[in-house]
Amino acid sequence: MQASENSNDDFLFIDDSDEDEILDCDGKETWRVLIVDDDPEIHSVTQLALSDLVVLGRRLEYLHAYSGQDACTLIEQHDDIVLVLLDVVMETDDAGLNVVKHIRENLQRQDIRIVLRTGQPGYAPEESVIKEYDINDYKTKTELTRRKLVTTVYAAIRSYQQIATVSENRKGLEQIVVGAANLLELHSMTEYCQGVLQQLTKLIGQDVECLFCARGQGIIDNADDLSFYIIAQQGFSETLTKQKLDTFNDEPVSQQVKYCFTQKKHQSDELSHYFYLARGGYRAVIYLALQEPLTETQQQLMEVFLTNAAVGYENVHLFQKLSNAAYKDWLTSLPNRLEFVRLLDLFAKNNCDNEVAALIDLNHFSDVNDGLGQDIGNLLLAAVSQRLQNLGPGCKVARVGADVFGIIGTTESLTPDILSQLFEQPFVAGEQKLPINACFGFCTKEHASVNGVQVLNQINIALNLAKKQRIEHFAYYNPEMEDATLWRLNMIRELRTDFAENRLELWYQPQLALDTGKVIGAEALLRWRTADGNFISPAVFIPLAEYSGLIVDIGGWVVNQACQQINDLSQQHFSDITISVNVSIPQFRRGNFVDTVMKAIDKHKVNASKLELEITENILMDDPQVIIDALIQLKSIGISIALDDFGTGFSSLSYLQKLPLDRLKVDRTFIKDIDQEGQSVIAETIINLGKKMNLKVIAEGIEEVEQQERLVELGCDEVQGFYYAKPMPKNDFLHFLKNNKPH
Ligand code: C2E
Ligand code: MG
Ligand code: MG
Repeated sequence: MQASENSNDDFLFIDDSDEDEILDCDGKETWRVLIVDDDPEIHSVTQLALSDLVVLGRRLEYLHAYSGQDACTLIEQHDDIVLVLLDVVMETDDAGLNVVKHIRENLQRQDIRIVLRTGQPGYAPEESVIKEYDINDYKTKTELTRRKLVTTVYAAIRSYQQIATVSENRKGLEQIVVGAANLLELHSMTEYCQGVLQQLTKLIGQDVECLFCARGQGIIDNADDLSFYIIAQQGFSETLTKQKLDTFNDEPVSQQVKYCFTQKKHQSDELSHYFYLARGGYRAVIYLALQEPLTETQQQLMEVFLTNAAVGYENVHLFQKLSNAAYKDWLTSLPNRLEFVRLLDLFAKNNCDNEVAALIDLNHFSDVNDGLGQDIGNLLLAAVSQRLQNLGPGCKVARVGADVFGIIGTTESLTPDILSQLFEQPFVAGEQKLPINACFGFCTKEHASVNGVQVLNQINIALNLAKKQRIEHFAYYNPEMEDATLWRLNMIRELRTDFAENRLELWYQPQLALDTGKVIGAEALLRWRTADGNFISPAVFIPLAEYSGLIVDIGGWVVNQACQQINDLSQQHFSDITISVNVSIPQFRRGNFVDTVMKAIDKHKVNASKLELEITENILMDDPQVIIDALIQLKSIGISIALDDFGTGFSSLSYLQKLPLDRLKVDRTFIKDIDQEGQSVIAETIINLGKKMNLKVIAEGIEEVEQQERLVELGCDEVQGFYYAKPMPKNDFLHFLKNNKPH
């Protein structure tokens, strides 16, 4: 292309710019422009031509290079060059194009604008090169009048600025995306809000002060009203966090935050912003105090950021709800067992020596549930939970089981007395007023293990003991209890193997008629001789067998042995002898006891009337009807039933009358001092009661002749005791029978 209006060299002197853009400029900031040309004159004329130019409020500042090589060096040294006015042909024909490649490919500077100039039109680069290297303009020097140069430079710098804005935006957005990903990992509300403020500060890139405010309910522990709280802060004091907004000493700011909540939209002036965050019903306000106003880009980015932050804010709330579901009891909203274990963990690890942890087990809760329905049961639990929470803010309450509550507090606020007082008044559940008792297990710091699960176990041990105690309904854990548990487990294991290896024996203690002195029967009593030859008392191992359920199998074996004994005795012509067998509650509850007895009688073909079952009053405590039904069934085939240890239990007479009894056994505690003045009242009462109920009465534990004499006076029917004979092995009993000379 040929120059149309100007001749070769004076093209730049022609001033056709009657409307140069001279704008206000503060003169501080400039655009740095690199002029690259091997002709020094071009440098000066270019500078002259652009001398007054102000682009977007800034003047131009120049760097000069006279070869492609120089240009590359300068560009590397100055990273603020926005525009290169570049001669194509210099030291080589393509020196200019090499500079372009260096900028775009080696330095990866896509933002620098490039205007190519050449004196010789023949050296114009290919169009593809212009596109590939993002060259703004290509002009022959002859084309470049002053006006055109100004326009070109102006357009190029504007384009630079747009690219810079886009790139700033991109960086900001990248920051938001990365920030959002980081925020996603924060599940606790305060951490999340703190994170939002940190990201926000980073995005703005200046020192700011900001607050994250929201209603405290559901976020701050014990914030039960709708007050606004400072959930997180940046640039203020750490002590503000989790405090009510009203404690913030800047009334206008507090007012403005609240106003923003009610207006439901951002409130801003130049240096302070109140951003309104809302999503899915979760709302917050971020207060932001700036040093410098936000740029337009920052404002746009802020919008994107806040939208993201609101999504995250809702997520954290939802996450919190989920974790509440995992760690809270749905019925009472108290921490659940999992959370209580975590609290116990903290209890175990902290240094507060005056803390104590406890479990509270409601007695007979299942009766309420079964009798009055689950709804009333639920109301009762809610009422108990409410009362426990009244113990004070220092106490942490949890529901760890259906009818078991956990509590951690100070030794002064959490004592057996204080807990007992809570249960003195009945609980209101719907229309009902329910008196409820409870057992308490405690564990003090002194004995607490190092982790929550173990502490829970320790309190449980104490609680179990408390439940078994008759007098006190609480127990404090001590390590010996655990030794006892260990001992118990070992004993049970040993009993199980010894029973399997046939090391249990059934001994017999004779029972005699008082009037004739004739042996009328015997009580079958278990004996356990361990592998090392020691006897372990049934008073010790029977409760363990009951506790472990082993009594079901052992009891079945006893019944069979007794039937065998009845047979053996009748073969030896002692067919009148009745054998009494002791029966425990679990045999009725866990095993099919009626079936076991029927089968034994069938198998040994014995006369059922020669078998007697001894039950205790305690049998009536749990589930009387099941047991009464079973006894009636057994009685119907001729088996007789004796009530053992009579007088030591708690049963009411009305229940006793429902039992199909044949005999009452007066416990030996009432026989002990019977021969002493005024000490026979209970025995006498029992004997008379037996008579009235038409039952035979047998007294146990007779050791002295005087006791026997008194019993004769009282009209007792039968006796059993060391005075006559101690329990003895099967063969000895046969021998005893053969030698029995009636008194
Ligand atoms: P129990 O049924 O009240 O048995 C009577 C206990 O009193 C026996 O203790 C017997 O040896 C003891 N005794 C009898 N006469 C006298 C006496 O004159 N003075 C003293 N001091 N004691 C006397 P033992 O054999 O140690 O049995 C303890 C308990 O173990 C029994 O009390 C019974 O409840 C239970 N038991 C024993 N064998 C069995 C069994 O096969 N099944 C079940 N479920 N329990 C059993
Ligand atoms: Mg007995
Ligand atoms: Mg007894």
